Amino acid sequence: LLAPPALLLFLLLAMDAVVDARPSPPSPRELLSRMTIEEKVGQLVQEAPAQAAGRLSAEEKLRVREGRVGSFLNWQDPIGMAEAQRLAREESRLGIPLLFAFDLLHGFRTIFPIPLALAAAWNPPLVEEVARLSAREGRSAGIHWTFAPMLDVCRDPRWGRIAEGPGEDPFLASALASAWVRGFQGDDLAARDRLAACPKHFVAYGAGEGGRDYAAVDLSLGKLFEVYLPPFAAAVRAGAASVMTAFPSVNGLPVAANPFLLQTLLRRKLGFQGVVVSDWNAVGELPVHGIASDAEDAVRLALQAGVDIDMASGLFAAKLPGLVRAGKVPEALLDQAALRVLALKAGLGLWSNPAEPQVAPWVDPLPATSRHLALRAAREAIVLLRNEGEILPLSPRLRSIAVVGPLADDRKNALGPWPGIGRAEDVVTILEGVRSRAPKGTHVLSAPGCAVAGQSTAGFSQAVDLAKSADLVVAVVGEEARMSGEAASRADLGLPGRQEELVRTLVETGRPVIVILCSGRPLALPWIAEHVPAVLAAWFLGVESGNAIADILFGAADPVGRLPVTIPRSAGQIPIYYGHTNTGRPPGSGRDVSKYIDVPETPLFPFGYGLAYTRFAYRNIQVAPALLSPGGSVEASVLLSNEGSRAGEETVQLYLRDQTASLARPIAELKSFQRIFLKPGEERRVRFSLPSEALAFVGPDGELREEAGDFELRIGPSAASGLSARFHFEKGGRIRPAPP
Ligand code: BGC
Repeated sequence: LLAPPALLLFLLLAMDAVVDARPSPPSPRELLSRMTIEEKVGQLVQEAPAQAAGRLSAEEKLRVREGRVGSFLNWQDPIGMAEAQRLAREESRLGIPLLFAFDLLHGFRTIFPIPLALAAAWNPPLVEEVARLSAREGRSAGIHWTFAPMLDVCRDPRWGRIAEGPGEDPFLASALASAWVRGFQGDDLAARDRLAACPKHFVAYGAGEGGRDYAAVDLSLGKLFEVYLPPFAAAVRAGAASVMTAFPSVNGLPVAANPFLLQTLLRRKLGFQGVVVSDWNAVGELPVHGIASDAEDAVRLALQAGVDIDMASGLFAAKLPGLVRAGKVPEALLDQAALRVLALKAGLGLWSNPAEPQVAPWVDPLPATSRHLALRAAREAIVLLRNEGEILPLSPRLRSIAVVGPLADDRKNALGPWPGIGRAEDVVTILEGVRSRAPKGTHVLSAPGCAVAGQSTAGFSQAVDLAKSADLVVAVVGEEARMSGEAASRADLGLPGRQEELVRTLVETGRPVIVILCSGRPLALPWIAEHVPAVLAAWFLGVESGNAIADILFGAADPVGRLPVTIPRSAGQIPIYYGHTNTGRPPGSGRDVSKYIDVPETPLFPFGYGLAYTRFAYRNIQVAPALLSPGGSVEASVLLSNEGSRAGEETVQLYLRDQTASLARPIAELKSFQRIFLKPGEERRVRFSLPSEALAFVGPDGELREEAGDFELRIGPSAASGLSARFHFEKGGRIRPAPP
């Protein structure tokens, strides 16, 4: 006889077996053997429905029935999607399910801070949670595949797409890349709450000339390997199921036709085995690049280079069957690409678990748990840039606050450049947040002052009167969401329209002013940084914008954000980033040094920078002598103390500089970071353990070089400050601290 607990276990296992008795999907190879050329090509065809928020047309339905389309993107009609899926499964010859893809860059229904803002939290586990929740929302809405994360390292804030990515640093970007992929995909793509990830845009899209979108990229292989490739390598290691190609030409060849990038690097060097999807009409653009002579040539080049799925150009559908029949493209190439797509569909469990779209995510109110995560993310994304006289957090005794500026009561822009299916009405505006979280008895007044981009100053006087009648002014200024993101590069990084003038006028009233900057990129605002006592970089924070800002203003939350990107003084300094290569004439080394004569060589705010409400002190840095056998590590530490009267969290950053090497190296490279929480008066030794590869660098041949020599190790609160220690790395792997 079975004892009761064992009986229970037996019953549970039996139930599990029943639940798991799903039909096993056909093997991709077996399916492939039954497919016509047109059906194989169909798997490589990705269409955008003619009506993004509606049903398919009769011709579109016919293509689904005939197996001539394998996936749809950015479709927002759950009933239409369900209908199309039924057509594919029940009325197409082989019943191969459709794949539904969507851009979930910073949320689907719950809109989180833009990716650049999430990067400012320096918190990979938080990003993982955001991705996980987005995946749950997306999958429940019938989506299987997200075109995210965007992993383009960018050192040129003129480029609008900097908003969508991880910022300027490959190490931080790589840490976030793995977190995004893990959050989207989990361990089992077939689970009902996971999505296939698609790191994009492979590769170096962020290095376009002049910061113009789609512009050509000319790049040394060393930079390609060390700066732009690492986040993709991290995403592949984390198991990313697909990768999207970048639009531009890299060293002369557009990525969608570039076998060196797609095969030598992505497949062979990184070991990627998933699906490669082109970006939107990138195959169609190959003739425009001047690389393909016509559409057929474009299709041949793209498939040969390694593009599996043709997003939206329609050229694979139109030309590939003919090319294969004419022997101009080997059928084996087509088979290989189709197999990858079928394997992705099988991996997602689409035969047994197609996750029929639900209408619910489109109509339900946001659950409290989602808002809670959105609030946490938004708070952590805010970077306190300036806080003269510790004006923040605000005193609970203020009688009145004037909240002015065109973005103070804005809902739409807070959703940022990829709003998913998020709704403006879900957004808590900054004015609403300040109103609802202000201490009892504090009056909150408001006026827009001017438009974001307009030229009228007619609203100034009302704003000034309001400021004069208040104890303090919060000015909410910045960009509209459409001023960053795709096709939204800017040559001028100031505030658009008359906003800076508005801020100056408010400062002239003599009232203390706090500026909140909402933007998709770093803005170069030297006057504000010098004259306004408190400045917050608030990016676009999503649905909980107002609550998060109010929590920081009133001190219910501490600012923990740190810049994931350098803020320049003027656009003319670009590219300006912390990890630039050493020169023979660095500033400070004499008269004719590498700098401008009309602007300081330093940025307005360095990478990694951000203030807390308390003060942290760094003391007594140490590097331990060690023998670095393979797998060994460099042990370094610093004493960190909280010298202020509030608790707070510091992001302790470790940078390395290789002082003598066979190639000129960057003046600093982030190699590790930790967030440390300390109570007032608390002190802690913060320890780092760097793997020996952290000392190596990638040569122009793409291979790691580990060279003996002197290193400078710096631990501090940003790329521009901290304590440093030198050590010598000997052949054979011994670490010897250098005398101070
Ligand atoms: C963008 C991609 C995006 C795609 C589909 C393109 O224009 O470059 O990042 O995934 O559209 O929406």
